[in-house]
Amino acid sequence: MSSVRVVARIRPLLKNEIDKDTIVAAESPDGEETSNPTIVRIPNPKNDAESFSFQFNSVYEQEATQQQLFESEVSPLVKHLFNGFDVCVFAYGCTGTGKTHTMRGGKSLADRGVIPRLLSNVYRKCRKIEKDTAGATQVEVAMSYYEIYCDRVYDLFEAPDKRTPSGLPIRDNNGKTVVVGLTEKPCSTLKEFEHLYDQANINRSTSATKLNAHSSRSHAILCVKITQTTEDTVRVSRVSAIDLAGSEDNRRTDNNKERLVESSAINKSLFVLAQCVEAISKKQSRIPYRESKMTRILSLGQNNGLTVMILNLAPVRSYHLDTLSSLNFANRTK
Ligand code: ADP
Ligand code: MG
Repeated sequence: MSSVRVVARIRPLLKNEIDKDTIVAAESPDGEETSNPTIVRIPNPKNDAESFSFQFNSVYEQEATQQQLFESEVSPLVKHLFNGFDVCVFAYGCTGTGKTHTMRGGKSLADRGVIPRLLSNVYRKCRKIEKDTAGATQVEVAMSYYEIYCDRVYDLFEAPDKRTPSGLPIRDNNGKTVVVGLTEKPCSTLKEFEHLYDQANINRSTSATKLNAHSSRSHAILCVKITQTTEDTVRVSRVSAIDLAGSEDNRRTDNNKERLVESSAINKSLFVLAQCVEAISKKQSRIPYRESKMTRILSLGQNNGLTVMILNLAPVRSYHLDTLSSLNFANRTK
């Protein structure tokens, strides 16, 4: 059975926000400071005396470290992954709330985000399996990395000036949706992975400039495929880590035509994503994953997949309406 956890992460104040008004608060269900918070509280934008509260599986406060978030939410998934189940981690939220920080993170060891930590665990597990089975089980790791911009799929291993503007086609193949022509790079060590990942991320920022679009308007999807082979079995599972397009309502700030096209593509794919996550969390038999390209390629909620959605939030008042709409989005997924 597929399952999903929805957690919130409130980022700390940035240097230029130190004197700003913090309006997002984390609370424990029983009001005890010692228990873990699961509630986010925010004032009503129309009346500061009133507030709204939203329930999550867990809430990470400003001082929560990259390691804490990883150990509690993502590290437990590695076991399932090696048992042959698919795993998906999403970062959702508007631009500037910490999605990239959460997924990719900074350069220092302590700042590393979910993705490098996850891969580090994956390779450790590979070595352990190979050792425990005295080489009878072989584990291969391969990655693909692509972005979806305006509902078109672009390979991040392809140099931006070599891209076909219409993107890569997707096709159904033996009941699975595949991106035709997508590069899959074998990477047998963490070092190799990091090198390829950094390279592709450079392509991501160049392509963003080329397309005249900020990278916050595309979904970046990293897919790591793990193949465990023994004499008589082959077991394949996938982990997908997704830095979603910014969820802010572009129409409020910018009215040009290109932006409207982007906005409606972003809104539609995020809407379908919310519907899928809701269907999974309610254990419904029909998950509408075929309704958008992203959820279709991910086969979201199929194959006993486990999903974690991290809702990134900025604590300051300047994000008030966007924060509320992010919280309402997460509420819809329950
Ligand atoms: P997004 O990808 O959602 O647009 P970023 O990840 O780029 O947001 O974060 C915006 C800024 O906030 C960056 O300067 C980032 O380093 C900082 N930031 C975000 N989350 C944290 C955090 N948990 N701790 C410290 N700095 C953070
Ligand atoms: Mg980002």
